[in-house]
Amino acid sequence: MAIDFTLTPEQRELQASTRAFARDILAPVVRAADAEADPLRAFQMTKEAYVQAYRAGIAFCMLPTQYGGGGVSNVDLILAAEEVCAVDPGFACTILVNGLGLMPVWYWGSDEQKDRFLRAATSDPTGEYIVGYAVSEPAGSPGGTANFDAPDASPVGIGVTATLDGDHYVLNGRKYWPCNVAGWDGQGANASIVVVRTDPSKGGTEGLSAIMIERGTPGVSFNLISKMGHRLTPNAEIVFTDARVPANNLVEGTRGNGDLLINRNFAWSGPVAGIAAVGVARTAYESALEWARTYTAGGPSPIINHQNVGYVLGDVAARIEMCRCFCWKTAHFLDQHDYHGELIGAMCKIQCTELMFDAVYKCMQVVGVNSLDKQHEFEKLLREAAVLPLYDAGNFGMQRRRVHGVLASPDYNPRALMDDEFVPFTKFMETIDTVPTYQETPLPV
Ligand SMILES: Cc1cc2nc3c(=O)[nH]c(=O)nc-3n(C[C@H](O)[C@H](O)[C@H](O)COP(=O)(O)OP(=O)(O)OC[C@H]3O[C@@H](n4cnc5c(N)ncnc54)[C@H](O)[C@@H]3O)c2cc1C
Repeated sequence: MAIDFTLTPEQRELQASTRAFARDILAPVVRAADAEADPLRAFQMTKEAYVQAYRAGIAFCMLPTQYGGGGVSNVDLILAAEEVCAVDPGFACTILVNGLGLMPVWYWGSDEQKDRFLRAATSDPTGEYIVGYAVSEPAGSPGGTANFDAPDASPVGIGVTATLDGDHYVLNGRKYWPCNVAGWDGQGANASIVVVRTDPSKGGTEGLSAIMIERGTPGVSFNLISKMGHRLTPNAEIVFTDARVPANNLVEGTRGNGDLLINRNFAWSGPVAGIAAVGVARTAYESALEWARTYTAGGPSPIINHQNVGYVLGDVAARIEMCRCFCWKTAHFLDQHDYHGELIGAMCKIQCTELMFDAVYKCMQVVGVNSLDKQHEFEKLLREAAVLPLYDAGNFGMQRRRVHGVLASPDYNPRALMDDEFVPFTKFMETIDTVPTYQETPLPV
């Protein structure tokens, strides 16, 4: 039996224990933290839950056991993630970013770097250890993130520079949006990986690398960002002003390959974002169904007895199931192919986050105007669902470009995913759509 969707007893246990954590430990803090106006304070309100997640092995479950991590497969990771995201996807994002910050060290770091950074994360007696992942940059012209692999030299593309000076790199510039980087007190995460321009004379496929910065590095400061959704996870601006970072913090195999790191990272997180969307939509669906079974809207019987309500909720339930299956398949693909899924990870993230945003809104239509009342949870669910197509590499400027790059390659096998075949992702597939093709065409006379 090659295809079997039955969970193993261990997976059921993982699902049940994560569900219990989300219900008993996380859920009680969500409402107040979401309503807190100060983003740092909102994040701090999750600290106790985070420490419990750390102690339960959730916070670094994605790292290999060799370095003290949980060693969970990608399939197991998303089984657990759905349970946390059904309660709060922002909290889950904090944990996801621990992985985005350290998985590249596992993939590309030297043995010394793996020992230093991965073991530090998994052996913190306080349980507060947190890791950032900094790619995104402030809006502007130049600015933004989507064109990180553009072929032009600086100032197009990534703007933060790292210049070698003796045995240190000197960092200058600003990042905007990275999660976790400011830590619990706004003064810095324990460690963060930062994608930098090590060669400003080169384009994005040659001039980028990734370097680890540690808490307390002089010349690094942070400003928290207040956003409309995912309010339990902390996003920040980072300012680098002649920040000196030891040269041996440059993650060895990322030298000149920061572009591949970004694409691989955002592919790994594709099914995690996808399952976050499933978790949010699942909560909206269960609430809408409960509402429809119990409210009459002034009519003679509960609104579930109206055909439109039953049809719409049936469609929503089916789409949740479809997306869950796509996330499982994608995670399985990553497990089969050494954590490479640049194509399927993007496809999964795009389709699940966009379909599930619509599913949440459909649930609101079923409930009607009362879904707008803040005493119910739909307005939060809609805010959370709205984040998912935009974050973790936007579906328009980054994820769809990656899909386009693969499909445009003459070597691409359109049956590869169906046949569970490895899909190579190369620099040749990058840069696509970064140079707009629009040219002024004379109007017909
Ligand atoms: C909760 C949350 C957590 C996040 N965590 C992190 C993190 O840990 N680390 C991190 O670095 N960032 C993080 N981000 C930022 C996030 O990853 C964004 O996806 C990223 O900044 C890219 O945004 P963007 O796609 O809108 O790019 P932008 O560069 O701002 O592009 C904006 C828009 O321009 C258009 N566009 C631009 N170029 C093209 C093109 N070539 N082709 C087609 N369309 C184009 C698209 O419509 C695109 O959506 C986070 C954001 C949130 C909300």
